[in-house]
Amino acid sequence: MLTSSRFTYQRPSDEAGRGRRRRRLSRAMRVPRVLRRLRPVLLQVSLILQLSLPVQLLVLGGCATRVHSVPPPAPVAAPVRKPLPPMPPPPPVTRRPVEAPPAPPAVPAAQAITLGHSVQGRPIVLHEFGSAGPCLFIFGGIHGSEPTSVDVAEGILGLLRTYPGLYSRCRVAVLPRANPDGLMRGRRANANRVDLNRNFPARNWKRREGHGTRPGSEPETQALLAAMERLRPAAVVSIHSIQNQPPCNNYDGPGGQMAETLARYNGYRVIASIGYPTPGSFGSWCGGDLGIPTITLELPRRQAGGEAWRDNQEAMLALLRSFADVGHPVTAGG
Ligand SMILES: [Zn+2]
Repeated sequence: MLTSSRFTYQRPSDEAGRGRRRRRLSRAMRVPRVLRRLRPVLLQVSLILQLSLPVQLLVLGGCATRVHSVPPPAPVAAPVRKPLPPMPPPPPVTRRPVEAPPAPPAVPAAQAITLGHSVQGRPIVLHEFGSAGPCLFIFGGIHGSEPTSVDVAEGILGLLRTYPGLYSRCRVAVLPRANPDGLMRGRRANANRVDLNRNFPARNWKRREGHGTRPGSEPETQALLAAMERLRPAAVVSIHSIQNQPPCNNYDGPGGQMAETLARYNGYRVIASIGYPTPGSFGSWCGGDLGIPTITLELPRRQAGGEAWRDNQEAMLALLRSFADVGHPVTAGG
């Protein structure tokens, strides 16, 4: 058969060949009869194998199947800890005792304080030297008619200001003007006409004119009592001047050795009694009643202040040095 150029001409021989190849392929594709008969059996075997696959995986330890098959783990109980045995006591700490640092050296100190005021309002000033140790208290001018006692007290102030070593191990306090009103007028008593050295609360105080309305009634006396309370002195020197009698180192209480020390330098006599009663005096109260070594230094009344200081400078320096060295008044005798 003729076709256009676009068609392929198939010869009859080719058609016959194609039929033979189709038949051969059909025979090749044909399932053997034995297999067709065994086909149901093979399908069942295949189904059984598919169903048993999870079991096989489980047996073989397959991960996915095992995860879903294993029950959740039981909660893990908290571990029971055995209580720890009691701790043995710590070994005693042996430490070297800490040694206290050495005490700093005493710093000398000086200050002036106003203890009170006189009847007429004049200040009564106390000068303190030293910061520690026993105290030596010195005062003058309790009688306004005895100004040389002020000169000697102020001379002692000059010594202390010049030689701080005198109070490096003790305290020294000086009150130069115990009766400023009387000193201003040059009279023995204060502005109330009271003899202050008869106004102290001694056991022998007597109610008399010029002794005050009561022991310690005067502001000047109260200032001296305040000084005693403040200082708690180990020894006291009260400076006076005397007329119609030779000067002396009079002492009350256990002040005999102090009087002897002064006498070696000022040459004054040492006496335990001034020779007349002095009720309510400072010496009676401080030395006699309180038992504090007390010196009543009686200067010559008519001597000038400068001369009195010249005669007593070495005596006072010796007293200050002995007090500073020993740290307490040397007491002997009575
Ligand atoms: Zn006097």
